[in-house]
Amino acid sequence: MTALSKQPTRNDCETVLHGTSICPGIAIGRIHMVDAEVSIPQTRIDSGQVASEQKRYTQAVEAAKQHLRKHVASMHSGSHLEAQAIFESHQAILADESFHDLVRSCIEQQGMCAEFCLNQNAQTLIAQFNNMRDPYLQSRREDIRDLALNLLAFLSGKPRGHHHPIQSSDILVSRHLHPSEVIRTHQANGLGFASESSALTSHAAILLKGFGIPAIGKIKALIENVDEGMPVILDGDRGVLIANPSAQTLKDYQAKVAATAQMNGSPTPQRCTTGSGEPITLRANIENPEQAQLMLAHGLEGIGLFRTEFLITPGKQVPSEEEQYRAYRSVVETAAGRRVNIRTFDIGGDKQMGLSCPCTGLNPSLGIRGIRRHLMVNPDELRIQLRAILRAAHRSDTALLIPMVTTPEEIEQTKQILTEVKQALRKEGAEFLDSIPLGVMIEIPAAAIATRDILSRVDFINLGTNDLLQYFMAADRDNEQVVDFNDPTNPAFLWLLEFILAEARKTGRENDVAICGEIASNVEMIPRLLKMGYRSFSIAPVIADSFRKLCAEEAIQ
Ligand code: PEP
Ligand code: MG
Repeated sequence: MTALSKQPTRNDCETVLHGTSICPGIAIGRIHMVDAEVSIPQTRIDSGQVASEQKRYTQAVEAAKQHLRKHVASMHSGSHLEAQAIFESHQAILADESFHDLVRSCIEQQGMCAEFCLNQNAQTLIAQFNNMRDPYLQSRREDIRDLALNLLAFLSGKPRGHHHPIQSSDILVSRHLHPSEVIRTHQANGLGFASESSALTSHAAILLKGFGIPAIGKIKALIENVDEGMPVILDGDRGVLIANPSAQTLKDYQAKVAATAQMNGSPTPQRCTTGSGEPITLRANIENPEQAQLMLAHGLEGIGLFRTEFLITPGKQVPSEEEQYRAYRSVVETAAGRRVNIRTFDIGGDKQMGLSCPCTGLNPSLGIRGIRRHLMVNPDELRIQLRAILRAAHRSDTALLIPMVTTPEEIEQTKQILTEVKQALRKEGAEFLDSIPLGVMIEIPAAAIATRDILSRVDFINLGTNDLLQYFMAADRDNEQVVDFNDPTNPAFLWLLEFILAEARKTGRENDVAICGEIASNVEMIPRLLKMGYRSFSIAPVIADSFRKLCAEEAIQ
């Protein structure tokens, strides 16, 4: 690690800063500070300069549009569909002349330069987004800030980051989460990304996951605690940033990185067993078709959870049957015979996806979400998705997974729709998987308590412990003020986990229960879950090696 031989600039003490993981993985490098405070010119102009100042603004907008067009085209050739879609949404914002009209009339009415007027109007818009209840819409403020910074750069005639290029040994540190900075990091092969921002559902966060860049958000006082060029370890698995690591910490992490590199790239699934030799099923959670490759690279046994709602480009229509078919088929083909559990859209709560029919209510997480949304307001969308999944599943080991089930009746209603969809496909002579297994997510306490009844109606259950915990503790998983209640080691929650497995055991169905929430990536929880008797897990692919290691250390009696 020659890159770490420079002197740290702040102090020599190892400092551990805690945040929330955005994308797992470990990066060892040096701090690269981004979005240094921009100073906004406050120049007064006289009435004779108004037209030329408005023209200067319009030219900057055109330059920013052209720059974005190039970005979108380069994403297209790199098959980064999410990135492409996100920058297309930026194009749509830039194309909105009503914002630019406000800036131009501000130039005229206030007699101030374009930079000042742009900043003033952008801040108003950012404040409006910030006040929105929906965390998804709230995090759109980061896109507005990003676009405003781009326009300011074009007004100044200097592209962003031109004076401070990213090196391949850099770990980026920022106050905000801007898609442009993520793209710059990706293009320069930057190692990781750490941010103070709590916009974990922002486009930038989605991009970081999509590119597999180890990343952490919600780090308090990050900027105050680090300096440019400081050596740092970013542990995206644990959500910690270690500034000025000690020689021992550095050695431990270098060993971890080396072990991971050795195990990756394996084309066949790697065995995962406990210390006493009991086999463990280990699959991947993925959010887009490209991530199926990570499942292969990390030697996992298939996809335990495909979160299909992330196929929806925020603010756009749900993808058509054909678009969905192609996405699912590409995952099924990549899996090449391994199991793929495709979950129907889990829209609502913190995932509104900017659709025109938002699932709100006073408390969106307790409103119309997941299968409720499909059965209560949008059965046609479910029919289209089932058609696409059934067709893509032809001659493969693919299963259907239903999110946010509350009652056994919802399962029966879904089965009825599934039967109708199959009948229609049969009539059309389409090829599809008739015997597709059906599973449900157990994420609501009422469903957990009904485990035996629910299991008797389906082929398997996946415990979505992220939601199960938030609903059990009545503490929003995204609300910083109450998030500490969501402690999976809470004795009542541990009791619930034991209860679910005990209920499954009563009918010999314990092998049909898997855990796919974040607790399966929690070092403190994994040994406990193994001791309880859980044997099947679905995890972020990049933590597969640490998981196998922990299992191997666990000798279960
Ligand atoms: C969960 O709730 O644990 C889960 C896996 O689903 P999601 O995180 O997508 O809500
Ligand atoms: Mg969930």
